[in-house]
Amino acid sequence: KALGSLLLGYHEDGELRYAGRVGTGWSLKLAGEMHKRLAALEVKTPHFDEATIARSHWARIAGRSGGAARWVKPELVVEVAFAEWTPDGHVRHASFQGEREDKAPKDVGRESAKPAEELKVPKSKSSKSSKSSTSSTASTPSASGQLRITHPERVIDPSTGHTKIELVRYYESVMDWMQPHLARRPVAIVRAPDGIEGQLFFQKHVEGDDLIVLRDPAALMQLTQMNAIEFHTWNAQDDRLDRADRFIIDLDPGQGVAFKAVVEAAGITRALLEELGLQSWLKTSGGKGLHVVVPLARRHDHATTKAFSQALVQHLAETFPKKFSAKSGPKNRVGKIFPDYLRNGEGQTTACAFSVRARPGLGVSMPIDWDELGDVKRGDQWTLANARDRLSFQKADPWRDYWKSRQTLTKGMKLLGL
Ligand code: ATP
Ligand code: MN
Repeated sequence: KALGSLLLGYHEDGELRYAGRVGTGWSLKLAGEMHKRLAALEVKTPHFDEATIARSHWARIAGRSGGAARWVKPELVVEVAFAEWTPDGHVRHASFQGEREDKAPKDVGRESAKPAEELKVPKSKSSKSSKSSTSSTASTPSASGQLRITHPERVIDPSTGHTKIELVRYYESVMDWMQPHLARRPVAIVRAPDGIEGQLFFQKHVEGDDLIVLRDPAALMQLTQMNAIEFHTWNAQDDRLDRADRFIIDLDPGQGVAFKAVVEAAGITRALLEELGLQSWLKTSGGKGLHVVVPLARRHDHATTKAFSQALVQHLAETFPKKFSAKSGPKNRVGKIFPDYLRNGEGQTTACAFSVRARPGLGVSMPIDWDELGDVKRGDQWTLANARDRLSFQKADPWRDYWKSRQTLTKGMKLLGL
């Protein structure tokens, strides 16, 4: 809450010109830091006259919330991504990408696109075929069907040298696979404007307070243009946010735990779920562990699925005290697995199937068959670089029956004494 919006300006003909506002894209921590530095630069006289500000969107927002502009020496340089210039010369749909300490304020002028750097990304296959294949999800593709990717050659993962355009192409190539997992669900994104070694921004909103729900493939691609790397989803769909349509047990190895133990834990979790009358499906996290996913008919609220998964985890920890810990926190799980049920609360998210992870190597969360479990060597075995290969050679979708499942917790609740 430290920062509402930043008023932006650039230099032209020896004058500072107003360029609109940016009100999103920073973390709480960064907002606090920036507020401190801005306060030290505060001045009394406005840089832009009332009329200029009054015409702007920002003035309407400020008027509504009663906040007045405070002025600072124009010394803080920021990078802002935006959709276009409005006719009166302001940025539209601006989003903060980071500070630019390498740039002098006097060198900030009005930028226009550089044609040589432009890259056209062709309309994805799924956006054309969306009507027939995944009728419930995609609506119309974006008006242009083409997206301009800025800084396509910027390296996002120094450990592999992978670039932003490679990330964009990856998401394009798995769009058909990813869409059923992503569509209709509120999404949280992890953006990495300076690559995965820079500051990461976990965002549940892009503009204002609205949840992010991706209506079509173009929306996903727009977020990759905004340097989104990870996509996390709710356990609910936007027409009934209060009803869980799945719960997830996230198997995290504690310090010093070999991946073999995670594999074993997944098998045990599956067996217990089966006893409780529940089929489950498996994916790698793209990071260190595995995710066991249990689809549900939309009958239970999130409090119920969370209580259920907590009882299940307690049962695991009581039955196998050497293998499982029911308590989170690194100290509790040294040498053990913590099956994390906490992300089953309302509004909680988990990395979506096919999401790239903003970690060295760019692992992806890959759905796999239970029969493959014994062969999996790492949670980040599949990556941006090899995921496509796997999908091309895959004979059947390991999650094909996931979508048909209509199970409930009724039997399991009785057995767990809930
Ligand atoms: P691993 O297998 O390595 O544990 P994972 O996906 O299971 O990978 P994390 O990436 O550590 O585990 O999970 C982070 C969890 O916390 C996800 O459920 C994510 O949606 C949630 N989350 C909440 N706030 C944040 C945040 N600020 N940054 C990253 N994740 C966050
Ligand atoms: Mn995990």
